[in-house]
Amino acid sequence: MRSIPLVAVNALDVFDRIAAAKRQPRRGRIQAAREEIVAAYQSYVDAAPDIGELRMATLTHQQKEAMRHAYNVETEPMIALRSELLKRISVARCPFCGIGETSTLDHYLPKEQYPEYSVFPSNLVPSCSVCNTLKRDLILDEKTNVRMFLHPCYDLIPNLEFLAVRTRMEADALILSYRLTRPAGMAPRTFQHLRAHFGKLNLADRYRRMGLEHLGEQYPSLRRAYGVNGDAERVAEKLIEKAQDFEEVSGPNYWLAKLYRSLASNADFCDGGFGAVQVLT
Ligand SMILES: [Zn+2]
Repeated sequence: MRSIPLVAVNALDVFDRIAAAKRQPRRGRIQAAREEIVAAYQSYVDAAPDIGELRMATLTHQQKEAMRHAYNVETEPMIALRSELLKRISVARCPFCGIGETSTLDHYLPKEQYPEYSVFPSNLVPSCSVCNTLKRDLILDEKTNVRMFLHPCYDLIPNLEFLAVRTRMEADALILSYRLTRPAGMAPRTFQHLRAHFGKLNLADRYRRMGLEHLGEQYPSLRRAYGVNGDAERVAEKLIEKAQDFEEVSGPNYWLAKLYRSLASNADFCDGGFGAVQVLT
């Protein structure tokens, strides 16, 4: 999970250009909804990030269909918007998970329920296909009424440490287990929000798998640090250095920063146990 900037486009210009590019009768239907859409955009911005319970705009069935069509059946201005949103280097990696490459746009508020935000740039979040598929049309947790996902443009990711990983060596295998912990000073509701995001996107298991895959690539460098004399301390230093780099760039809760921190204090791993991550071809 990471923050990304909003795209610098004028949402109403985008709306007008897309509407004008549609054929009749949809063009007329979209244009007739303009006033409702303007109000909806404003209420989104005013309420953000608490947009899980926004009032739905009053659109006719045909207007709703036309708004979804504006996204699904792309016109020149919609293609330009997609490219504008996805081409930024700052969003090359998926902000929901921090693992995958962004390849798609996720409707933060799903267009099935909220067709008024079908082409609203602030509601279109660059996402990897795994997160997009897992997120589906979910918004609020039925039991807790908490929004289930962080909005990467609006939700602040707390600076307090909430992600933890346990690493242990077991029969020459490295076992990773990620979990969330509520730090002192974090409001229970904020934690519920993080926990829903983490759980629904299956991040514990995805971090575990990608962590092991990532470490496989690090094996040669760990082996070099260990050297012929078995210098476990040097391995630990190297791991801490990497953790510091990740923390500086991506914050203390970045999944790889956590992994390196944990491995640096795992004596068995540093003392040759890292051999378990070697990829045998
Ligand atoms: Zn993702």
